[in-house]
Amino acid sequence: MKMTKELLTLNQDIAGQEIGIPVYHIDSGSNENPTVYIQSAVHAAEMQGSAVIYQLIKMLPKLKLQANFILVPNCNPFGRTQRAGEYLQGRFDATTGNNWNRFYYYHKNIAKQFISSLKIKELVAGEYSSLDLRSKFRQYLKESIVHSINSEWGVNTAQYLNYKLQLLAANADYVIDLHTGPSSTRHIYSPDFLIDDALHFNIENIISIPPSFAGALDEASFTPWIDLGNTLKEYGIEFNYRVKAFTVELGSQENICLTQAFDDMAGIVNYMRSQQLVAGGPGIVKKAITVTPLTNYKTLFSKHAGMVEYLAKAGDRVLQGQTIARVLNSLEFDSDLGLVNITAPSSGIVILHYPSAAVQVGTQLYKIAVDEN
Ligand SMILES: [Zn+2]
Repeated sequence: MKMTKELLTLNQDIAGQEIGIPVYHIDSGSNENPTVYIQSAVHAAEMQGSAVIYQLIKMLPKLKLQANFILVPNCNPFGRTQRAGEYLQGRFDATTGNNWNRFYYYHKNIAKQFISSLKIKELVAGEYSSLDLRSKFRQYLKESIVHSINSEWGVNTAQYLNYKLQLLAANADYVIDLHTGPSSTRHIYSPDFLIDDALHFNIENIISIPPSFAGALDEASFTPWIDLGNTLKEYGIEFNYRVKAFTVELGSQENICLTQAFDDMAGIVNYMRSQQLVAGGPGIVKKAITVTPLTNYKTLFSKHAGMVEYLAKAGDRVLQGQTIARVLNSLEFDSDLGLVNITAPSSGIVILHYPSAAVQVGTQLYKIAVDEN
């Protein structure tokens, strides 16, 4: 086991001072072992994952490692300085409004372009091994990302950040992107083909997402490999390798709990044990887990402006018709309209609610994993 650390420069201030992110490499001693990439705080106010990486860096040297690790505990050097009042405004680029987790590189024809760069006769004759295809496609992906960063017209700040991080993540067989919600219970986004794997994280709620690209790192990590498998099938070639990628939401933003971070780390180690990436490590107490398809993960938008009391908390089970919040409207305190009850449109589990008591029409009040019926 060897641990090395680098400060990777991604930004500089207007005086030219370089601003970097720490990147930890933990080497198991064999290049043939798979690589695990874990980053935290691309939404800069979502810091619990950084504490989890701290716990991982303390734990991994005590385990038998069958994988190499790239760990990036504070991966957004732009967002981490964007303060608004007492809060980190870390979810969106403060200048453009761009979501820091929606601009990763993906091109829907990348697998086709890659295959057309190979010798087709040799490909069809089976002369490229699966390992060959894997390393050549990885290289092709990385070169495509570098090409985009260097394009004459440039890229926006969120793209620049995402592409640079993706160049690290593209080396990995496993990608784990650590986030939190606003006021949130723990949950994980897993592609539908990895649900059985995702159970090993031991997180109570799993949102099952379709394996397609909508801008985030997890999707940008597994989708090209699914495309490659599908395209190779057209040539009669079976190619089953997939990058396994997840977005893990570790509670609420603007919050660190090191005790909880130990448990979060134990869940990740449990997942890695199930994949034979590590041996040993802390045990877990298995939790009951609910899997909800993305189509049943519903947002309740506020119909009212006002000051809200959240009666249902993140993690609560609610019933259809149950009052989950109350909104005060000070212009109507002398009538029945001064206090409006908000009820749950369906039964399910409250995953998160808006962090502020001040809401307007259209604010995302709650996100609820509703029961299937
Ligand atoms: Zn996030």
